[in-house]
Amino acid sequence: MGERIFIGVAWPYADGPLHLGHIAGAYLPPDIFARYHRTKGNEVLMVSGSDQHGTPITIKAEQEGKTPGAIAARYHQQFLDSWQKMGISFDLFTSTGTANHAEVSCDIFRTLLDKGYIYKATVSQPYCSHCQRFLPDRYVEGTCPYCSSSGTRGDQCDECGKPINTVELIDPRCRQCGTTPQFRDSEHFFLKLTAFEDRLLEWVRKQTHWRQNVRNFTMRYLEQGLKDRAITRDIAWGIPLPLDGFDGKCLYVWFEAVIGYLSATKEWAKSSGDEEGWRSFWQGEVKSYYFIGKDNILFHTIIWPAMLMGYGDFKLPYDVPANEFLTIEGRRLSTSRNWAVWLPDYLSRYDPDPLRYLFSINMPETGDSDFSWREFVRRNNDELVATYGNLVNRVLTFVYRNFDGCVPVAGEFDSRSQAVISMAETTLNTMDRLLYQCCFREAIKSAMSLAQETNRYLDEKSPWKTIKQDRQASATALYVAILVLSCLRTALYPFLPFSSQRLHKFLGFEGNVENDGWQLRFPPPGQKLLAPQPLFSKLDEGLVEEETSRLGSVHY
Ligand SMILES: [Zn+2]
Ligand SMILES: [Zn+2]
Repeated sequence: MGERIFIGVAWPYADGPLHLGHIAGAYLPPDIFARYHRTKGNEVLMVSGSDQHGTPITIKAEQEGKTPGAIAARYHQQFLDSWQKMGISFDLFTSTGTANHAEVSCDIFRTLLDKGYIYKATVSQPYCSHCQRFLPDRYVEGTCPYCSSSGTRGDQCDECGKPINTVELIDPRCRQCGTTPQFRDSEHFFLKLTAFEDRLLEWVRKQTHWRQNVRNFTMRYLEQGLKDRAITRDIAWGIPLPLDGFDGKCLYVWFEAVIGYLSATKEWAKSSGDEEGWRSFWQGEVKSYYFIGKDNILFHTIIWPAMLMGYGDFKLPYDVPANEFLTIEGRRLSTSRNWAVWLPDYLSRYDPDPLRYLFSINMPETGDSDFSWREFVRRNNDELVATYGNLVNRVLTFVYRNFDGCVPVAGEFDSRSQAVISMAETTLNTMDRLLYQCCFREAIKSAMSLAQETNRYLDEKSPWKTIKQDRQASATALYVAILVLSCLRTALYPFLPFSSQRLHKFLGFEGNVENDGWQLRFPPPGQKLLAPQPLFSKLDEGLVEEETSRLGSVHY
């Protein structure tokens, strides 16, 4: 057995469907990474789940006249469906609504409280005398103190993007009934982040392998000095405090959601029949990776590590390869303005691999990247279909027809053929190094260069012509091409799992690509091929206009 790799993936809020920004930012990268490590024979655990708590869900429930649980269950089901269709291969995708998660969260809360890392303090909170309850941030609306836009929520201004404290809102009102809230004292618990400042600084300084944007952002934040943060809320929907005398208070969603990584591992261990099996991913020899969007960096480089340090004896993150944002047709993605492409909508009309390809080769790893339908069609038609798909198709169709549907027997390899074979070997090695370092964009480019070079090789060798006068030369060139296809099915498997698995079958291999390992496998001469079909289809240019016109119009 090789390495042990834990992959924690951002927990999506179960208050709406997934969009392409989620996929490019947080969900495709860990899937590529997990598939690569599984192919290497490493022990991988990839977990996440839907975040069922928090006020966005209670607000949505009130708007629709449903319970928060019903809303959360609806989107949880939709997430599961999307993962399956998109090929996001979680080992467990659970939710924060389980009894197990509540139990693990309360254990962490109690332990940190006992150790003095959580303390109680009195704070002033907005209270609606008409609704007779404390109002969470998002239940208070008013005028933004920065840009004067009205209808601004008590946590953040959608118009100018600035974070807001509820007390700063001009002319605040209860969202439910319009009453002006009073500010009343309420007892809350705080996480003593200040106690971890020095240890965090020392730890982050050593993480020189992190992406520069992630490390710099974290360092800047730490150098400004940390503040203790409230971890409880006056709200009924969530995990109740495991203490007497605090009715109507729950753990703040950001505090318990990150605990999901640990609780999900425990749930996975229980369901796999080895109740103690979670320990090796938290206490043993393991590298833990957290895949998230850049808006979540501090929760994973400061807050969660602080909680783990306080609890004691759990592995801190090894890497947090956070991605930058995806823009849509050059504009910032906005779900409220429907300037977004929704994943279920995409999947109802298109295959997963073309999108996985586009996001892999244009991943927002080091800066924002843009999605446009024109680019989607161009990458599919000019690269997937014309370069890779065409290589596969012309080689397999010709061999299938002219060599009795079997892998041909090669003669001597000349230096040109040797060069292509060694490029295939080098490609796998280069990609191995890049994937290990989470450099996905560079890795897939390397595979595509091999496909391009092999097309050139075939143009030079023209086996379709030489077959008439020199069948052996033709067979040799085609064998080299088939060997490259065998290489590409492995190299592209983490990125394009559906088409790679089909290619695996066309080449006459059994089982799954993954089980063949990260190696160049020479297809045995005489191996029976499966009747080939095109791996990808050309997309009609007309869809560009049709799809673009949907943006910003219909409300999902
Ligand atoms: Zn009210
Ligand atoms: Zn504003």
